[in-house]
Amino acid sequence: MSFYISYCEKFLPFRAGEALEFLEKYILVDDEMYDYEQNQLMAKMNVKHTEREAVQYKSLYSRTELLSIIGQKIISNLNISSIINIIDEEINKLIETDYFGIDVYEKEKSQIVYYFVGENKQINETVSLKETENSTFSAYCIKNKKDIIIGNLHMEYSKYFETYPRKISSKDEYEVLSMIYTPMIINDKVVGVMSVQSYKENAFNKDDLHTLKILANYSAIAIENAISYKKIEEIATYDHLTKFLSKHEIMKAGKIVFDKFKNNKMKFSVVMIDIDNFKNINDTYGHVYGDKALSRISKSIAKCIRNSDYIGRYGGDEFLLICPGIGKSEAVDVAERIRSSIENTPFLLEDDIKANITMSLGVNECNSNDNSFMDVVKNADKCLYYAKGKNRNIVICNN
Ligand code: GH3
Ligand code: MG
Repeated sequence: MSFYISYCEKFLPFRAGEALEFLEKYILVDDEMYDYEQNQLMAKMNVKHTEREAVQYKSLYSRTELLSIIGQKIISNLNISSIINIIDEEINKLIETDYFGIDVYEKEKSQIVYYFVGENKQINETVSLKETENSTFSAYCIKNKKDIIIGNLHMEYSKYFETYPRKISSKDEYEVLSMIYTPMIINDKVVGVMSVQSYKENAFNKDDLHTLKILANYSAIAIENAISYKKIEEIATYDHLTKFLSKHEIMKAGKIVFDKFKNNKMKFSVVMIDIDNFKNINDTYGHVYGDKALSRISKSIAKCIRNSDYIGRYGGDEFLLICPGIGKSEAVDVAERIRSSIENTPFLLEDDIKANITMSLGVNECNSNDNSFMDVVKNADKCLYYAKGKNRNIVICNN
């Protein structure tokens, strides 16, 4: 500065005091300019930053909105396949993926049901947990309650398994390279696994994992509800011991068949079946073996009937068979097949307990005098009663 002042004093027509004054003003203005430019720059940066933030918030908002819409749709749904389809339709708006899957863990049966969606079709496959626990990512995820995120399967599988992971047969050969698996957990209980897979390397990042975890949380509730509903439906529809239709369901089926008979004149027959002296089995071996015998007998009966027939547990040891489309002579054949198969099957209830069992059967074909399905059943029951009076182990047909 002193050099500058002495320079001014020597060469310029200003006095040193004036020069100094101008210089101070110049420095002041220069500083202000500098501050102004900096402020402008900061303002510009702020605008850019705000714009970027706005874009981020907008994208975050639309993702959250979509997640909430999917959540609402699936949470009230009680069908697992339809839950999966709902997510599959929307998943690519959230995560770019080639495949989407949900694997449901059925703890009581110790099995995993794979639901897998690719190329517009859904595939189901059931495998036991034990069989796959050391060879599939789903089983690993269920067992360890841990997320899996893989960018290149060939390089990274050894973090999880000693040998190359097993493919579930319907899935494409493992040409997929990237994948995320995340457990679906509700009240600390794993109900399944949700996964996305891509043919691309390093296709997924932590944001994708986060998104999939939110979907998995929604789905866990929906899947748990769907499983409970399916169980209740099964209990209401089927008899637990014989796996035949419950009395209510067999009567419902009977009314439908009867209406068809009335409308289209489609013939049908019913067979009333009752085990002979079943009380003796209970009295001799106890109720536990009685139950075992009932379960085995029902399996033998099931082998003798067609897929289009309906069979239900009508009472304790009494079954009702409905054979749509067949008249009494064919129905007698069916009944005779059942009778002789039971007579010729020694039922092994325990290593040293073998029970010989017989059955009595009453056959009746529906005719135009019948006013309801119950009338058809009553006539078959009369035949059964007659068979019991005829020393049992016999088929009696209503003539
Ligand atoms: P019948 O030849 O006259 O039919 O003689 P029955 O001893 O089979 O007599 P009935 O059909 O009247 O009685 C059925 C018996 O079946 C009564 C009961 O001891 C037994 N029973 C009914 N339901 C069950 C069941 O769920 N489990 C077991 N263990 N026994 C049952
Ligand atoms: Mg009986």
